[in-house]
Amino acid sequence: MNRTLKSTILILFVIIFLPTIIFSIYEIGSLRSNEQVIETIYNNQLDAILYSVNQYSEDVISSWANRLELILSSKKNNKTEALLDFIYTTSSASKVMQFNSDNQIVLSVPTLISNSSFGKSMQELLIENDSVLKNLNTYLQGGYRKLETFTLNDTTDQLVVFAFQQDNTFLYNAIVFNPVRFINEVLDPKIQEIAQNEFAISAFFEESDSIIYSSDKQFQIREVNQKKRFWLMPHYSLGIELKNETINDLVKSRSEKDLILIGIVDFGLILGLWLIFRNVKKHLELSQLKSDFVSNVSHEIRTPLALISMYIETLELGRIESKEKVKEYYTIIFQETQRLSGIVNKILNFSQIESGKKVYKFSLVNINDIVLDVVKTFKHNLEVQGFKYKTNCSAKLPEIQVDADAVTDVIINIIDNAIKYSMDKKYIEISTAFDKSWAYIIISDKGIGISEKELKHIFDKFYRVTEKNLALKAKGSGLGLTIVKHIMDSHGGKIEVKSKKGEGTIFKLLFPIQ
Ligand code: ADP
Repeated sequence: MNRTLKSTILILFVIIFLPTIIFSIYEIGSLRSNEQVIETIYNNQLDAILYSVNQYSEDVISSWANRLELILSSKKNNKTEALLDFIYTTSSASKVMQFNSDNQIVLSVPTLISNSSFGKSMQELLIENDSVLKNLNTYLQGGYRKLETFTLNDTTDQLVVFAFQQDNTFLYNAIVFNPVRFINEVLDPKIQEIAQNEFAISAFFEESDSIIYSSDKQFQIREVNQKKRFWLMPHYSLGIELKNETINDLVKSRSEKDLILIGIVDFGLILGLWLIFRNVKKHLELSQLKSDFVSNVSHEIRTPLALISMYIETLELGRIESKEKVKEYYTIIFQETQRLSGIVNKILNFSQIESGKKVYKFSLVNINDIVLDVVKTFKHNLEVQGFKYKTNCSAKLPEIQVDADAVTDVIINIIDNAIKYSMDKKYIEISTAFDKSWAYIIISDKGIGISEKELKHIFDKFYRVTEKNLALKAKGSGLGLTIVKHIMDSHGGKIEVKSKKGEGTIFKLLFPIQ
């Protein structure tokens, strides 16, 4: 590999490929930790929502306690009516009680029958939790009214108790309420407001894990990962989930998007890398072809010049006496001059094409005439070199609009190549034909042929087949077929080439009839 190409590859590798790979590895590696960060953020957010619902429940029950305190501390004699009104207007509450520090129930609305099963379980509960209740007093002395909750035996009802001081005596106020109704009736509006259309918030009875409330009755509850117990209803918990996508789905789809993005960036960079590489390679190849071209052409010009000056010198000395010899020398000088002008013409033609200055003069022509003219000029050459040739022109070929000089150049170039690239089997066939849309010239030889790989490049400028040095043995500039292609394109024509290594080549030149 060329040194420049090697260093280009190295530079591209260091400045594009390596950073791309390092970037991708780093990004893919950090995706997992990003996922965890996102998941934590989401979970914290959901936790905050659950916290706010819990806070709201506590605020509601606190406001009940305030109202109760107000009623019980009033100086009015008949508190029963006010307490009944409290129960009536407080959704989910069913009983209000007051008991003293000896666990004696001193007030109950509605009245409590002490030997009823509720009365007995109430008494048991107070005795059992004596120390907890005493603590409430301590809190109250410290200026904080703590709410304590208990679950009543044999019922789903719940008791919320708080200490209360009246005329220097410590009492306990208690409200019996139903948590399921509390959640469904009291908390529901608040939960709806928080959940809106985005979240599904549900409540569960912990023991059986059964759903006792859902903010959206239509929504199919999935596996709820985000759950918190109610502070004041320890047997119940509150769950939340995203309605449209779970956090896992959300994080997964984000990661997938990130991966696709990394893929696209990598692909873009590698594509860029490949394009730069291809471009550099092409330029290097072209500059190599150009330098080969200079040496080929110098060689091609030097040979006829050397021959011409040698024969002229010999003739000048006047030593050649035989008239035939003199004639032969003149013929050689003439042929070499022709060759020289052919080369110069080719270069001029090419430079005109390259600079876009080539102008074609179109006129109605029968291409049979051009073909026969060229064959005539090649006749001597072909015979001298031992070629057998055959011309087969279609008699009814219609006249077409072409630049006769340019088409002459095309045929010369192709016959010239057929001669140059034929080894033992020296046979050339030139024919013309036509169909509805095209008039065509077919030139075939039985020469060395062109491999499929090389076939793609033979029309490239300066391109010469270097395989096994076959073409190198023949002189050339690599411009002939480039000129042919340009002329054919300018005529709106096409070139089809069929070739087989060792068997020969067929060039079919198609000119549009219109
Ligand atoms: P050159 O001056 O090298 O002949 P051309 O552009 O005319 O340049 O042709 C390009 C290459 O195509 C040649 O170098 C040769 O290898 C190949 N080629 C063209 N015509 C023939 C043919 N008839 N048979 C075999 N190879 C051919």
